Amino acid sequence: MTFANLGLSLPILQAIAEQGYEHPSPIQSQAIPAILAGQDVLAAAQTGTGKTAGFTLPTLELLSRGERAGPNQVRALVLTPTRELAAQVGDSVATYGRHMPVRSVVVFGGVKINPQMMNLRRGADVLVATPGRLLDLYNQNAVKFKHLEMLVLDEADRMLDMGFIHDIRRILSLLPSRRQNLLFSATFSDEIRQLANTIVRQPLEIDVSPRNTTARTVHQCIYPVDKNRKPALLTHLIETHNWQQVLVFTRTKHGANRLTRHLESKGILAAAIHGNKSQGARTKALASFKSNEITVLVATDIAARGLDIDQLPQVVNFDLPNVPEDYVHRIGRTGRAGAHGHAVSLVCADESKQLADIERLINELLPRQMVAGLEPVNEVPTTALNNKPSKPKKNSKPKPASKVKGVTTPSHPEKRSEQKKRPRRRPRKRIDE
Ligand code: AMP
Repeated sequence: MTFANLGLSLPILQAIAEQGYEHPSPIQSQAIPAILAGQDVLAAAQTGTGKTAGFTLPTLELLSRGERAGPNQVRALVLTPTRELAAQVGDSVATYGRHMPVRSVVVFGGVKINPQMMNLRRGADVLVATPGRLLDLYNQNAVKFKHLEMLVLDEADRMLDMGFIHDIRRILSLLPSRRQNLLFSATFSDEIRQLANTIVRQPLEIDVSPRNTTARTVHQCIYPVDKNRKPALLTHLIETHNWQQVLVFTRTKHGANRLTRHLESKGILAAAIHGNKSQGARTKALASFKSNEITVLVATDIAARGLDIDQLPQVVNFDLPNVPEDYVHRIGRTGRAGAHGHAVSLVCADESKQLADIERLINELLPRQMVAGLEPVNEVPTTALNNKPSKPKKNSKPKPASKVKGVTTPSHPEKRSEQKKRPRRRPRKRIDE
């Protein structure tokens, strides 16, 4: 893949070549053609992924094709949470657009407003702004949005964390409703989703989030359960949900063999792959799994690493991994490419530490469910997300089965670290349905 294949014109290709970029990064190769085609984009991407060029290059390309901005008018507005980021994005716009007839302006708070007002008189094809200063400029008639074509929200999660939601809503209310929208965020909380829903229309969703963020299309939950009841719980889940293709992770090769035997004894077709199996046996097991001849593939982390199976509907962590990043890696096998997947973890009291490590890594408490009759006698404590070790509760007792209505009981954990920083919010939505 080259930049020339993406539909960019010569002046911008020249600027890219001068930067020494040879190939588009994944976010660029996905976002650029979509943006050029006029589509809205919702992207999970952090700094370092090349996201800035991902939205700047096609924005400049589109703007170069239209009429220049009139006095005080803005054609593309890029909102950033901080002045540093605004300056950085402004530099990128200037660099990539240096051979194009496109005028860009950067405005942010903490400096005199008058020079910014003067600068905006000639209009801006691209205006990079922090929300507060932008509203000040608008209130002084220094900026007009009548001809606005594009809106970019960069680092939307940080904007919400910094309390800009009201400013953003106010700005949105000032913009023409017909426009192209691009929203970039490192993480996708419920709050970001809600905001995105009011901004982007039928967006292309792009996810280039790094390993410690779990894909938002994966519905995750845990089942606290006693160790010796795990095989029974797994069998129950497979049968009641009628799962057809399940990848199950165990920590050890022996565990994988034992579980496979158990499942087969219950009439569930299963095969194990791990380091002790020959390559031939592994290939055969994988082929039968892919062709749905068997329902369950039981794998250890090492064996699963090289597996070429995408878009699995269901991943089960029969044991939690010792290394928390492996959890993210495991569940990354489901919910790919926008498809929805489920990742279920069976967690016993001995695994509280692994659970806490995972929940801290993904900065989220995983919703809990239980199956009547299989509730744990030994409780799995709730993780404290503020990075302090979790304190075991005094006199902790298992929940009596009578309190568990129906087959499953979801709970509604909240992000505790965020509760401290922000005003109390409604509980997080159930994500495990
Ligand atoms: P960003 O994620 O936008 O903060 O960009 C991270 C860094 O990657 C910046 O220093 C860019 O100059 C650089 N960069 C962006 N796109 C490319 C590319 N296609 N090839 C090489 N470097 C790039």
